[in-house]
Amino acid sequence: MEEKIAFIIGIIMFSSFILLFFGLAAGLFLATFRNIRAAIRGKLSSMEPCRSCGNSVSKTAVICPYCGDNFGQINVVANSIIGSFISGVVSVAGGLLLILGFMEFLRDW
Ligand SMILES: [Zn+2]
Repeated sequence: MEEKIAFIIGIIMFSSFILLFFGLAAGLFLATFRNIRAAIRGKLSSMEPCRSCGNSVSKTAVICPYCGDNFGQINVVANSIIGSFISGVVSVAGGLLLILGFMEFLRDW
């Protein structure tokens, strides 16, 4: 009886941690896509006139959305793209390790 309860608790713990890791990974990949979009379009805050066409363009924009002029400011945003992408990959790896541990746990019973 007590063993069965421990088994059920184990399954619940593993499932919730696996879901947590994959949820985190999904959020991080979503953040990666948002960062990529922000890198191309620029965030709406802190606008600056484009040096080529004079339209208001975000300071973080890499390319002017009006004339396509390249500002060459990709480094800061690219770092956060890579950072969120790597964190996402690490979370997926953690989730997969948990699944392996879960299978081990199920085999022991
Ligand atoms: Zn422009």
